[in-house]
Amino acid sequence: ITEELEVGFNVPAEVGMDEADIQTPCLILDLDALERNVKKMGDYAKDHNMRHRSHGKMHKSVDVQKLQQELGGAVGICSQKVSEAEVFVRGGIKDVLVSNQVRDPAKIDRLAKLPKLGAKITVCLDDVDNVAELSEAAVRNGTELNCYIEIDCGAGRCGVTTTEAVVEIAKAIDAAENLKFTGIQAYQGAMQHMDSYSDRKAKTQAAIDQVQHAVDALEEIGLKPEFISGGGTGSYYFESNSGLYNELQCGSYAFMDADYGRILDEDGNRIDAGEWENALFLLTSVMSHAKPDKAIVDAGLKAQSVDSGLPFIYGRDDVEYVKCSDEHGVVSDPDGVLKINEKLKLVPGHCDPTCNIHDFYIGVRNGKVEKVWPVSARGRAY
Ligand code: PLP
Ligand code: MN
Repeated sequence: ITEELEVGFNVPAEVGMDEADIQTPCLILDLDALERNVKKMGDYAKDHNMRHRSHGKMHKSVDVQKLQQELGGAVGICSQKVSEAEVFVRGGIKDVLVSNQVRDPAKIDRLAKLPKLGAKITVCLDDVDNVAELSEAAVRNGTELNCYIEIDCGAGRCGVTTTEAVVEIAKAIDAAENLKFTGIQAYQGAMQHMDSYSDRKAKTQAAIDQVQHAVDALEEIGLKPEFISGGGTGSYYFESNSGLYNELQCGSYAFMDADYGRILDEDGNRIDAGEWENALFLLTSVMSHAKPDKAIVDAGLKAQSVDSGLPFIYGRDDVEYVKCSDEHGVVSDPDGVLKINEKLKLVPGHCDPTCNIHDFYIGVRNGKVEKVWPVSARGRAY
């Protein structure tokens, strides 16, 4: 960020300024908390002989991904879209799994070009017809694509549901030119946010059993997958102790959000009360207090996603964020304690779709701005 950039017009903050002077609404990262989260997941994965392929759809940031790789030992990234993968490869990430199906011919071509930039690319398949499409594009571009077969192990989205289908697709990949069958994609997305630890455990165990059945059949025909990949912030300990999975895909643990924070660990504690720290905040300012018991802040719907509920105000139990519209947030302030221009740190309801609507993360430490990181793949949903 050069000096000609005007703070407030081009950028919400610049390196070296006081945290108090950041223009709001703006995403801030508590760098100490972020680094502790990243290191903790990295150590957990290492101690359990797991690879961690952190999910970039959450942060969409080349800088955060590099931190996950350098400090947290992540082996590479998951990205959900081809355009996202392109941003990460151009940003220097060398190992990218597109944890999704790619069927549009133009997108398949873009995907097949990415290895030319020096990256190892892996893609998910759940249809035998996709094998020829990917193979043809890889041959045409003179590249190789690695393939994970996606099993729907409970999320009810993409993925095959039978061992027969897995075997059929694996054989087709094995026989196809310029494709390599390297793994199984089995992320159980539907249970990650369930409050109860034992409910999450039961759902993950059902997924593990289903995937094991398919892997056994693959081994029998000499097509043992190298990687069994899945696991998120609400389940990584189950996959890590399964004796089956060897690659994690956690995303939200690094930043945390209000919806994830309230799920419970094995001992019945919220996971944001010790397991993970809130590192992501939406900084907002009070702009009106015309009613004695209500403060109006500058972060509304256009600054955050509320699909998983409203944000909570970090470190405060005397005031509550109760409502929002496009550009306004209503904060209940029964004792009238908030002042005009006072800043509040909101913990967004859901981190992924909130990050995607901002241009920058402002990294802060000890009250000072230390990093101004672009949300590199912001809006890359195509
Ligand atoms: N893997 C896949 C395929 C996902 O869709 C997601 C998020 O939805 C993740 C991993 C990351 O999971 P979490 O944010 O729960 O850690
Ligand atoms: Mn999410």
